[in-house]
Amino acid sequence: MEIHTYTLGSYQTNCYIVSGDGKGCVVIDPADNGDAILRKVKSYGYTVEAIFLTHAHFDHILGLGRLVSLSGNVPVYLHKDEVKYLENAYLNLSEEVTGTPYTYFDNLHVLNDNDKISAAGVEFSVIHTPGHTEGSVCYRAGNTIFTGDTLFAGSIGRTDFPRGNYDVLISSLEKLKRIDEDCDVYTGHGRPSTLLYEKQFNEFMQ
Ligand SMILES: [Zn+2]
Ligand SMILES: [Zn+2]
Repeated sequence: MEIHTYTLGSYQTNCYIVSGDGKGCVVIDPADNGDAILRKVKSYGYTVEAIFLTHAHFDHILGLGRLVSLSGNVPVYLHKDEVKYLENAYLNLSEEVTGTPYTYFDNLHVLNDNDKISAAGVEFSVIHTPGHTEGSVCYRAGNTIFTGDTLFAGSIGRTDFPRGNYDVLISSLEKLKRIDEDCDVYTGHGRPSTLLYEKQFNEFMQ
């Protein structure tokens, strides 16, 4: 599996371009500038097969609409409890932070906990990890986990946004702690880590 990190947008969000077959790719969190993301995808020789959202805060979705239309209306996967954030500029914070409401409605495929998605030669499983938002998920592919704003290297996502809940996020981390194998952790912001390291040193994982 090839994983390319493309950090973009005013909040330095990590967009991941993931391919298992070297031809197709999944774009996780098209944070900003769909044109630039597609250029990056093409530079690796890939075509976009699907877009996955870890959650729908504005800083993870501002490139979404443009990337979907440039990529031939590929499917957009997100948890069922996250659809309302995508459709609501108050919940996704775009209105408050950027001053320009951003919403998106098309090609949505809703996910539940433990769902499996095969795309670009990779099998992903969905781990529902609410707390940062109600429909936040982590995507696991083998011993790699994309954690969005649920888990960062040495920290966790904020819970003081609309419908965030600290206690719920802490119990979501229990799900990640129950994974026995060590995994590479690719976060929504900042550097990557490993699950073993976070279990040992992240105070929120204790
Ligand atoms: Zn967020
Ligand atoms: Zn974020």
